[in-house]
Amino acid sequence: MNSFDTDVLIVGAGPTGLMLAGELRLNGVSVTVLDKLSEPMQFSRALGFSARTIEEFAQRGLTARFGEVQVIPAGHFGGVPLDYQVIEGGSYGARGIPQSRTEAVLGGWAAELGAQVRRGVKATGLEAGPDAVRLKAVGPEGELELTAQYVVGCDGARSVVRTLAGIGYPGTDPAIELRFADVEGVRLRPRLSGEAVPGGMVMVIPIGPERSRIIYFDAAEPLRPAERAITFDEVREAFERLSGEDLSGARPLWVSSTTDASRQATTYRQGRILLAGDAAHTHLPIGAQGMSAGIQDAVNLGWKLALEVKGRAPQALLDTYHSERHPVGARILTNTLAQRLLYLGGDETAPLREVLAELVGSHEAVRRHLVGMVTGLDIRHEVGEGDHPLLGRRLPDRELVVDGEKTTVFTLLHAGRAVLLDLTGDLGRAAAGWADRLDVVAVERLDHDVPLAGLLVRPDGYVAWAAAPGENTAGLTDALARWLGPATR
Ligand SMILES: Cc1cc2nc3c(=O)[nH]c(=O)nc-3n(C[C@H](O)[C@H](O)[C@H](O)COP(=O)(O)OP(=O)(O)OC[C@H]3O[C@@H](n4cnc5c(N)ncnc54)[C@H](O)[C@@H]3O)c2cc1C
Repeated sequence: MNSFDTDVLIVGAGPTGLMLAGELRLNGVSVTVLDKLSEPMQFSRALGFSARTIEEFAQRGLTARFGEVQVIPAGHFGGVPLDYQVIEGGSYGARGIPQSRTEAVLGGWAAELGAQVRRGVKATGLEAGPDAVRLKAVGPEGELELTAQYVVGCDGARSVVRTLAGIGYPGTDPAIELRFADVEGVRLRPRLSGEAVPGGMVMVIPIGPERSRIIYFDAAEPLRPAERAITFDEVREAFERLSGEDLSGARPLWVSSTTDASRQATTYRQGRILLAGDAAHTHLPIGAQGMSAGIQDAVNLGWKLALEVKGRAPQALLDTYHSERHPVGARILTNTLAQRLLYLGGDETAPLREVLAELVGSHEAVRRHLVGMVTGLDIRHEVGEGDHPLLGRRLPDRELVVDGEKTTVFTLLHAGRAVLLDLTGDLGRAAAGWADRLDVVAVERLDHDVPLAGLLVRPDGYVAWAAAPGENTAGLTDALARWLGPATR
């Protein structure tokens, strides 16, 4: 038997596992990622990501690697049109980027940072002890046994890690199905937000010259038996019937389907075993929330797990991964189920859509609420005492001046470390004991509508402490200890 040790073993080199690998490497932790596929997945699957995930990629300087990113200003909630720019940074997200491309970008970044990705290796067994986790796997050279301080299951909805750990995955069974195909060789009318049509719903997203992603819901056949794979002939017949468009010249590139089964792991952490991405939550892909939530799980978990591995974490820091991200996942399950009813419910739910459209049309607060929920921009973590309006919220990418040079908040977060924005010049001394985990930045000017003396921003971009000018700043050291652990001498 071969064996090797690594600080963190990630099972699954999908978007969640690769993002987590990069986050851990930024923080100097050794990481190995295993994937049962011998080659990266080549399909388009998730064609975009949400506004908060766009921000999280920008926080690490990854945006340019995606090439030209098409950000959509308006979208819908359950088929009711909605202007997503009603809140700062709001958008319906990036669209037209195949998941295979996202995985290539994240895989390249993680590898540059030194993550090891081992392909063709399938996790089969797991044994968690007080100090380490032992994972059994089968690879090209036969059986392996690998040990790590922590194992993170990023191995998708049918997670083996979750099953082996005995973590429950309760939820609702599938009732309906969406069908997908990428086709080329035909010009189809774009229907970016999906259109209700007699007998179902049709969506068409251009993904290249004469190349489109089609998605539809067919009320005549809401659910197929799981064992029967969908064929392109079925897709063509149903799409032509529902949309009235001709697919006879189309070449299929990919055909797939997904259901509205909605499930969530009962816990995201069980001792040395953690879950993230689809392994922790699955639901209907509406509003690009699926892959986006996995990326956000990884960004929330990475720095906390790194501090834990390095023996620097304050007590219970790692538990805040579950307490912060589980409610976010639960809210996504609820909003996607609600959108499914509105969007795909047919004539019966038409009055509900009408009432919601009225509310959305006449109340900005309703628009802001729905956009905040679907984009992830309204997430507010419980970070500590105080009533400052920025506490627990993500800090948007504001411009600031440091050493006479203009820069931005997100640029300061590229290193994946916590940042203390000091607008008084007095805070650096109090924070000196955390210099190994914290960048203190003397800010000459920060464009913000709320007057500020100082801000502690966690590596994931959420504000952990904030003070207004003239306010007592004694709480800073408590906040540093709470989030980054005890000071060193
Ligand atoms: C048809 C379809 C369309 C979708 N459209 C969208 C969309 O438009 N927007 C959106 O946000 N989301 C969409 N999704 C959902 C999105 O694809 C998932 O949310 C996303 O892939 C989750 O990423 P992940 O890294 O958590 O898991 P996955 O991408 O599932 O990756 C898990 C990885 O683990 C590996 N693995 C599994 N078991 C083992 C094992 N035992 N040992 C080793 N490796 C293992 C797998 O090979 C895989 O590479 C869609 C999904 C489908 C199926």
